[in-house]
Amino acid sequence: KFIALEGGEGAGKSTQARLLAEALRARGLDVVVTREPGGTAGAEAIRALLLGTEGEGWHPRAEALLFAAARSDHVERLILPATERGAWVICDRFVDSSRAYQGGGGGLSDAEVMDLHRIGSGGLLPDLTLLVEVSPETAAARLDLRDAGNADRIGGRGADYHAKVSAAFARFAEAEPARFARIDGNGSAEDVHRAVMAALAGLLP
Ligand code: C5P
Repeated sequence: KFIALEGGEGAGKSTQARLLAEALRARGLDVVVTREPGGTAGAEAIRALLLGTEGEGWHPRAEALLFAAARSDHVERLILPATERGAWVICDRFVDSSRAYQGGGGGLSDAEVMDLHRIGSGGLLPDLTLLVEVSPETAAARLDLRDAGNADRIGGRGADYHAKVSAAFARFAEAEPARFARIDGNGSAEDVHRAVMAALAGLLP
């Protein structure tokens, strides 16, 4: 199975990916935890390009091409080989992040983002996408705790951009209710983990 975690920065996706992996391993499942952009040497190199570029950063279309290239390497070299051998892949962000950030935030059309995804990765979609939603206040508080230096973030984006990203994620979840589960991420890590496990109940062996 292929499970993606999505949401804005500070939603708690990485913590939930780790807790979910532990819970699935405790059931004896083969689990691979990975992240986008990243997950393979080539994709991590593109991540460094995306996150390390100062000044005005990348144009949204160039950004979308880099994400699509990173995802292509990640899908071909890690995600598909793992799912083909029967492993569970838990991916911290996937194509819906490109749709929400480069699309919703950056202004590209959804069709454009999905065209790049078809070229790069055959249009692969997760079996289930867990959308972890938090209030802007929760996100801000967690980000302040996490990294004062913003080393793991693409900077230069205002509250307006992030509001568009959250709204885009919500629209995708409404449009594809069978592929998405919306998770309230405002509670404790344990509470959110329980909601994640409840959302996965139908997929578990
Ligand atoms: O998931 P994580 O917070 O590590 O993402 C790293 C950075 O890349 C964040 O600033 C995130 O908003 C950004 N990102 C993006 N578009 C994507 C995926 C991630 O702008 N498609």
